[in-house]
Amino acid sequence: MTAHPLSGRLTHRFADVLPELSVPWQAEEAPAPRLLALDEGLAVELGLDPAWLRTDDGVAFLLGRSLPEEARPVAQGYAGHQFGGYSPRLGDGRALLVGELTTPDGRVVDLHLKGSGRTPWSRGGDGLAAVGPMLREHLVATAMHALGVPTTRSLAVVATGRDVRREVPLPGAVLVRVASSHLRVGSFQYAAAAVAADQAPADLLTRLVDLAIERHHPDAAADPVPALALLRAVTAVQADLVARWMALGFVHGVLNTDNVTISGETIDYGPCAFVDGFDTRAVFSSIDEGGRYAFGAQPSVTTWNLSRFAETLLPLVAEGAGVDEEAAVGLCVEALEGFAPAYGDAFSAHLARRLGLPDGLAPDVLNPLVEELLGLLQGSRVDLTTFFRDLATAARGDAEPARGRFLDLAAFDAWRERWSALGPDPDAMERVNPVYVPRNHLLQDALDAATAGDLEPFETMLALVGDPFVARPGREAYAEAGPDEGFVTFCGT
Ligand code: AMP
Ligand code: MG
Repeated sequence: MTAHPLSGRLTHRFADVLPELSVPWQAEEAPAPRLLALDEGLAVELGLDPAWLRTDDGVAFLLGRSLPEEARPVAQGYAGHQFGGYSPRLGDGRALLVGELTTPDGRVVDLHLKGSGRTPWSRGGDGLAAVGPMLREHLVATAMHALGVPTTRSLAVVATGRDVRREVPLPGAVLVRVASSHLRVGSFQYAAAAVAADQAPADLLTRLVDLAIERHHPDAAADPVPALALLRAVTAVQADLVARWMALGFVHGVLNTDNVTISGETIDYGPCAFVDGFDTRAVFSSIDEGGRYAFGAQPSVTTWNLSRFAETLLPLVAEGAGVDEEAAVGLCVEALEGFAPAYGDAFSAHLARRLGLPDGLAPDVLNPLVEELLGLLQGSRVDLTTFFRDLATAARGDAEPARGRFLDLAAFDAWRERWSALGPDPDAMERVNPVYVPRNHLLQDALDAATAGDLEPFETMLALVGDPFVARPGREAYAEAGPDEGFVTFCGT
């Protein structure tokens, strides 16, 4: 027997260090596996041979059914505030951590499966996923990565050959996710609750903090109060992440605490969307009736989620700083207050880049310019993606395409004069402003076709959003905003 190609490459540090958060488990068998999507570039980055991944053995590996001997796959435990209500026991109800892999360039990443069958965390769920939502995650994660947004990635989607019962039977699939880790705010909530209830040893939280620091924020280890330094670091990466979403018009859709990573990567693409007409009130999840996760609510709801993270750290902050819990609350509040300025600076910087303006413009010049533009975009519900490309054309001398998008032409003209006077660089604008983002109306059509067995529209769209800055002749339809139907609901699971 030849050795497994991954022999010796998988570790199980999460399972070793945090047994209280790990249930050893196996992926379910798939009756008729078929590889639907494989990110060959990512495979190479991981030191995996794409040609092998396409073989029967490779596909069995992708399904978690043929692992190297040392692998110890686990279902991870976590809790979470879902739409504000606390669920103490969520966990991987349809997912598995296969293990950690060290890439040839020395990074440690999680290999993870979604849709791999029931686990002890499944509650009433079937543990499965359908082809459509898994291809959606593959495509949107690919797009986000190409746009420079920190994100979990999708190595592959494998159809299982087993139907999944939803409103109608749908073909099932497994997504192979690669993430810098799956540590979430909800992981800390689960650990903190277990310790508080005497169901776990007190050092569980310390081990979790140490692992998070080791994998994502190593500088925090040298701080006199590492847990507080971790809070500051997570606040900083989340502020930048959300600023990137807001500058691109991305709406996550389900910002529950179990979908907020410690690494600062976007995770879990369900009912997400890129807004077609700029509107801070845009909501895309059918169950988000109050607009808790509306486009414009993302910075404030992330601060709320980070406050839940801070609560879990209070005992360690108090101990580390040698203060009582009340004083520890003060220290955490101070750390959380770092979010607003970090977010504001990052958002302005991302917008300045989209506007073709140099780095380091004085805030009293840049900030009012950005504020006023947002008001104009909101007032006319302008599509961000096409607007910024048209604005590059304006920087070359033809302002009409951009201008035609606004109802208040005089206000736009006045804004444009102030912007032009700062000398925007159209070439730089075209390097950072995408032509193609995943447009929901097109993506839905592509997923419907894929579900019916035709992958061609999906593959066409994947190629465009994976290389989004170069306009391709004949593909104009993929660059245009969708029909304005109000807020269309796309449910993701
Ligand atoms: P998500 O919406 O993917 O963030 O999942 C939220 C929680 O619901 C997690 O604990 C999932 O494991 C669980 N979950 C979602 N879908 C299923 C399913 N079909 N079967 C079992 N658990 C599920
Ligand atoms: Mg989730």
